[in-house]
Amino acid sequence: MTSSLLHQDTVAELMREVTAAAAAGSARIAAARQPHEPADHAEIAQEIERIDLDAPLGDFDSVLAELDHAWLRHAVWFHHPRTLAHLNCPVAVPAVAAETLAAAVNVSMDTWDQSKAATAVERSLLSWTAQRIGFPAAADGMFTPGGTTSNLQALMLARDESLERTAHLPAAAPRPVRAAALRILASAESHFSVVTAARILGLDDDSVIPLPVEGDGRMSVPALRRVLADLAEQNLTPMAVVATAGTTDRGVIDPLRRLAEICGAAGIWLHVDAAYGGGLLVSPAHRDRLAGIEGADSVTVDYHKTWFQPVSCSAVVVRDGRTLRHCAHHAAYLNPADTPEPNQVDRSLQTTRRFDALKLWATLRTVGPDAIGALLDTVVDLAARVAGNLREDPRFELVCEPSLSTVLFRWLPPEAADPDPWVRAIRRAVWDTGRATVAETEIAGRPCLKFTLLNPDTTLEDVQEVLELVHETALHLTARDHTGKALA
Ligand SMILES: *Cc1c(COP(=O)(O)O)cnc(C)c1O
Repeated sequence: MTSSLLHQDTVAELMREVTAAAAAGSARIAAARQPHEPADHAEIAQEIERIDLDAPLGDFDSVLAELDHAWLRHAVWFHHPRTLAHLNCPVAVPAVAAETLAAAVNVSMDTWDQSKAATAVERSLLSWTAQRIGFPAAADGMFTPGGTTSNLQALMLARDESLERTAHLPAAAPRPVRAAALRILASAESHFSVVTAARILGLDDDSVIPLPVEGDGRMSVPALRRVLADLAEQNLTPMAVVATAGTTDRGVIDPLRRLAEICGAAGIWLHVDAAYGGGLLVSPAHRDRLAGIEGADSVTVDYHKTWFQPVSCSAVVVRDGRTLRHCAHHAAYLNPADTPEPNQVDRSLQTTRRFDALKLWATLRTVGPDAIGALLDTVVDLAARVAGNLREDPRFELVCEPSLSTVLFRWLPPEAADPDPWVRAIRRAVWDTGRATVAETEIAGRPCLKFTLLNPDTTLEDVQEVLELVHETALHLTARDHTGKALA
């Protein structure tokens, strides 16, 4: 940074400096030969702690050098083809550039008078996403930092819609008393953020009822009907049904059309958590898998998962934009109620807020929706081919057919020994090589390994290479065990 710290001369000068700095930083990125370089976490933490925050280096080149050593050297590279763990993606180039622009301008999205055209861009993208869902013109939405917040906001709207319906009844009990009768129904494989949201919303600990799933992982509709009947008998109020379009582990999509019919008939808010599966909205090949999503009242879409956007970028989209009024608070200094222009803070749980819409806009304007969807289609198809290989390979067991881009499997030890105790050790040992990353999870109470395929550049050969690494690593571990040495 040669000019003043706050770059008060021109944004253009700032951008020149930023570009130079980024070029230096990206040298390390270009040099990344494997998903990560193994290092002990305590050593890394010590290294960071040794840096004296009260003793500045004075120039940004030195800072970059320090960052390169302290952070980038230890980064995990999501653009590497053998990075197969976590729902985190390689990112679209226009999005990264747009991210820098947004930071340089430092737009904040709370009010029109701080954002102007940026608010219009954001609102345009929200109504475009709503159209992709199939919502009517009255739809609206809000950008959020992630699916966790999108789910929270959707459930807050559902709660307040539900409470509003009983508020004006004669002898209505106070709000907390009525809130105690609210229940959220979600499949046992739904994301934990549903439970977190219920807690934040002050609902009872048992307010989220986990519905059993069918053998394929989809929410059981008969079970839903049974629970709804039980709730009616107990005078409890089903405030929302949460369907998942792309469960985090199996990637399964709950039966959206049937759930929309049931919820529509009973007047229950249907929230579709499409944090993972939302990318199918632009899929040229697999959009039909989301059929029925247009019957939802609210939808969560994580652009930072299957739309290849940098963290963070998510939205909650609602069928009826008026429901967003439950988030509104009018402060005299910020957003008086009679402002003629749209103030996005009126619809958000945040106040100062990033212009995360810009990166998605830049990506769409560069390559268009089909190209984004085609990237997702590539990894969905790859998952199917990987599953095909696993099914034929006697060294492995395929846990279930892939629904999106995750593949769940186990390594089978020799002599038909129990595979379950090895899952954790294999995952860690593969991680320790730095040559690949593999995830682990539990399905129906049993551990398994998991590939989260989100890199369209990953080939079947790359995955096969990782499977060989898993096999070799596992053999090594079990052999070590037979010689009596303790497991790592
Ligand atoms: C990832 C995920 C979330 C949480 O989203 P974040 O963006 O990580 O906050 C919620 N629901 C599902 C189904 C997910 O896969």
